[in-house]
Amino acid sequence: VTSNETIAALRRIVGDRHVTTGADIAPGHLADARMAMPEGEAPAALVCPANAAEISAVLKLCRSAGLAVVPQGGMTGLAGGAVPLPGSVAVALGRLSRIEEIDTAAATMTVEAGVPLEIVQRVADDAGFLFALDLGARGSCHIGGVTATNAGGNRVLRFGMMRDLVLGIEVVLADGTIVTSLNKMMKNNAGYDLKHLFIGSEGTLGIVTRLVLRLHPKPRSVATAFCGFAKFDDVLAFLGRARAELGGTLATFEVMWPEFYRIAIEEAGRRPPLPPAFACYVLIEMMGTDSARDPEKFAAFMEQSLDDRLIADAVVAGSEVQRGAFWHIRDASSEFSRGQGIPAGFDVSVPVGDIGRFVEDVAARLAAAFPDLRPVIFGHLADGNIHVEIRRIPDERARHDIEEIVYGATRDWGGSVSAEHGIGLVKKPYLAYSRTPEEIALMRTLKTALDPDNILNPGKIF
Ligand SMILES: Cc1cc2nc3c(=O)[nH]c(=O)nc-3n(C[C@H](O)[C@H](O)[C@H](O)COP(=O)(O)OP(=O)(O)OC[C@H]3O[C@@H](n4cnc5c(N)ncnc54)[C@H](O)[C@@H]3O)c2cc1C
Repeated sequence: VTSNETIAALRRIVGDRHVTTGADIAPGHLADARMAMPEGEAPAALVCPANAAEISAVLKLCRSAGLAVVPQGGMTGLAGGAVPLPGSVAVALGRLSRIEEIDTAAATMTVEAGVPLEIVQRVADDAGFLFALDLGARGSCHIGGVTATNAGGNRVLRFGMMRDLVLGIEVVLADGTIVTSLNKMMKNNAGYDLKHLFIGSEGTLGIVTRLVLRLHPKPRSVATAFCGFAKFDDVLAFLGRARAELGGTLATFEVMWPEFYRIAIEEAGRRPPLPPAFACYVLIEMMGTDSARDPEKFAAFMEQSLDDRLIADAVVAGSEVQRGAFWHIRDASSEFSRGQGIPAGFDVSVPVGDIGRFVEDVAARLAAAFPDLRPVIFGHLADGNIHVEIRRIPDERARHDIEEIVYGATRDWGGSVSAEHGIGLVKKPYLAYSRTPEEIALMRTLKTALDPDNILNPGKIF
């Protein structure tokens, strides 16, 4: 039980109106996009600090009071990582919202952790740059949150995950130490590269307060096509050719299996660019810097692939509106489970060359145990990342069996139970499916070294 004195001390640190307790805590701080705090449980307080110094003081206080601290970004996570623990202090980062600097020579942007991703993208765009990370939750997720989860999204193939877009970091450690490592250089091998400890650590090793982000030149040409394939092996061959022919300009390669396309067209009302007659569909996009020649190059590449019968059918977007319509199909996945009952979603990865057989295997294992499930399968193929959406599971008891099937198959194919969403609370039982005991022991060693009292997001990841 938190004493009134601790709450009063928190109020002195961040200001009275930036601490809320009990029923005054907004519901948005009790649930992320995947799960809510169980009914009847509550955090001791929600604290909204303004800067690293205040966060440092909050952590020192919580450490001496033995209180768990749960960092919160935009609460769009899909693993329960930011969901408060009972009796904990939730630390919301939304007030750290300043863009501090754009350095055009270094091509970097220095920002505070609570800036929404979409604002970072817009500010970069206004300055003539691209901030390359992009995902569906862009309007709500924070730049600190996407760092803490090492988010991926639609352009990983070209620009990498968040880990590849961070050059410098500032974090507050569990004991309140502020580590400022706002490096702007591409090269810096002066000892360990500490930022990588915190990127993807889901708020368990430190609270991210500031970042130096890597910017890219703004693309001057974009070419997009929607393709249908007679068999999955052709998709893999097409990916190989796209990598060879389009090189570094290949930005997106999104694959959708037939059930995805059927629902997008028949239920989500999207306009079909192709008849629903294919074994697989791909949305491919190139981003280049030569607006005169790139469209021709892309058209020639597509024509050759059609002539060679690698692609069964394809439509190249002739306008920004048509490009938007293609993306509208891919983005329909966020609507699939609405109003369907209890959904289950999986974000796994396996080596790219195994994806076709992995998908067949998962579908067969699911069909054998639950003939009516009809899984919806799609993903970022070039990253080995497959999403399996089940729109309606029979009941909560079936969830465990379904998870065992999907994660069990992932383990058997040497894959990862979390491609990009993190482990949080929801995938905790399955961490050992993708990590060896030695890997998990080393993770624990790091956790103990940085947070010996286990106050930072305890019980998340492992
Ligand atoms: C519609 C939709 C689409 C999505 N698409 C993708 C996608 O394509 N790719 C992808 O990777 N993810 C995707 N996600 C998942 C989600 O957007 C990401 O995980 C995102 O990175 C979470 O950011 P957030 O600010 O909302 O973090 P939160 O949900 O608030 O927190 C996530 C984790 O990070 C920790 N954390 C947050 N801020 C900090 C900080 N400053 N310091 C330390 N720890 C912190 C929290 O404790 C928690 O463990 C999607 C989610 C939705 C709802």
